[in-house]
Amino acid sequence: MRDVNWRAWRNRMMRLWRTSLQLRTVAITVVLSLLVIGVIGAYMAVSVGTNLFDSRRDQLLSTTGRANIAVQNLFNASAEQAAASEIEGTTYAAFDLVSRSNATTGGTQIAILRSPDQDGPRVPGDLASTPDTADLINTDLREQVAASAEGDRQLYWQSVSMPGADGEMDPGIAIGSSISIPNAGNYELYLVYDLSDAQQTLDSVVRTLWFGGLALLLLIGAVTYIVVRLVVGPVRLAAEVSQKLAAGQLEQRIPEHGEDVIATLARSFNGMADSLQKQIVRLATLSQIQQRFVSDVSHELRTPLTTIRLAGDVLYDQRDSFPPATARTAELLHTQVERFEVLLADLLEMSRYDAGAVEISTEPTNLVHLVGNAIESVSAVAESKGSELRLIAPGGYFEAEVEGRRIRRILQNLLSNAIDHGEGRPIVVHVDSNTTAVAIAVRDYGIGISAAAMEHVFDRFWRADPSRQRTIGGTGLGLAIALEDAALHGGWLEVWSEPGQGSCFRLTLPRERGGVLVSSPLDLPPADPVAGGDDD
Ligand code: ADP
Repeated sequence: MRDVNWRAWRNRMMRLWRTSLQLRTVAITVVLSLLVIGVIGAYMAVSVGTNLFDSRRDQLLSTTGRANIAVQNLFNASAEQAAASEIEGTTYAAFDLVSRSNATTGGTQIAILRSPDQDGPRVPGDLASTPDTADLINTDLREQVAASAEGDRQLYWQSVSMPGADGEMDPGIAIGSSISIPNAGNYELYLVYDLSDAQQTLDSVVRTLWFGGLALLLLIGAVTYIVVRLVVGPVRLAAEVSQKLAAGQLEQRIPEHGEDVIATLARSFNGMADSLQKQIVRLATLSQIQQRFVSDVSHELRTPLTTIRLAGDVLYDQRDSFPPATARTAELLHTQVERFEVLLADLLEMSRYDAGAVEISTEPTNLVHLVGNAIESVSAVAESKGSELRLIAPGGYFEAEVEGRRIRRILQNLLSNAIDHGEGRPIVVHVDSNTTAVAIAVRDYGIGISAAAMEHVFDRFWRADPSRQRTIGGTGLGLAIALEDAALHGGWLEVWSEPGQGSCFRLTLPRERGGVLVSSPLDLPPADPVAGGDDD
């Protein structure tokens, strides 16, 4: 469960990362600034720490040097003392001198230790501020100091950690130098200083650097956010407006402010939208004028055509009494006038679709009956071409809410095309259904359609065979009208074809008006019931 939550959260974050330019820019800027601030901060902390330590050490070295001289002078002044108790007294006095002098601050520990490996009695003994003071000084330092006893009496130092006032270990520095006590031998003077004040200064510098860095980082983040917002805002607005434009809201524009590059973008964008709108409006007007023209011409032609038709019919009825050539002309006139009428009716129908003025009135219709009627209406033509018409309807829900007249028109067109291009071979009509859709497939085994031609079968006035005269066959509008009719029902009209193997047109309709199709109950083409149909 936790895994799922984590994954959902991670996916959400990744989507946000991909989609938000603002988030990406702010995050990258903050991370890079963090790196830079981190490196600079670390460098500053180290260099401040080193400088602080160095200057404090130099200062302590010089005060320790002065203490050493004072102590040595004290001992030199009492050089003739030979009694152990006197020397011891002088040593106490020297210890006191150092601890009261300004060489020491609070927390400084002092030790006067006898250098090892010397002959003679151990007088005076070791003296130290606390019993642990000698333990703070390690043997390396002691060896260096002891070794310098005979030489230049240099100062040697070493970093130590010493118990502080609050019980915790504080940083410190132990500085040692050798002294020689007349009649007693070589001794070592050690001052162990507490450096916690320098450490506190360093801590406060580091704290300030941390807070400063954090504040700087927040400031950089906020500034980047504001700057990116200033730039991304108009771009996002432009994207929204262009989406609305694409969705057809042609009057949408971007507000234009100022003189900067964003304003230039807005102005050019709006200019583009203006010219697009003008162009689209111009084309729409043109297309409306053309539609009106086609519709008007078709209407205007109807009256003279009816007259021509009536006159032609009279001549056609009397053709037997005419000389053969005139009789032939009368027949020609009759068929072409009929074709003209069909063409005109089709054109009027197309112009109605183009004007978006078509409304369908549906009622529950049994599609198997409808297919039966359509087959019957073309059976005479099929017979004359030698094509046998078969109906395969395995049973199911064949009722669908459709406008019977339009579906019959689609079927008649598909059947006539199948008969026309079926080469006299059988034509099979399949009907099948599922709970949501009914499909009708008209399968012929004729010449078929090439792949290139298939892209155009539903185009207006398109015919596969250009050599075919415009005086015979259909108008080339049949499939275009069928496609519009299918779309009006929320249905699909699809084609499958193989040259030489025949064609199959499949009409799929939702069973209820407004239903949405997901799949068709029939395959395209459906399983083949005509064995060897293509080599008949
Ligand atoms: P037409 O009035 O010419 O039949 P259609 O729009 O119905 O117009 O068909 C357009 C063209 O598609 C036809 O001229 C024909 O070339 C091709 N076509 C249609 N159906 C078939 C079919 N079953 N087999 C082969 N070609 C076909």
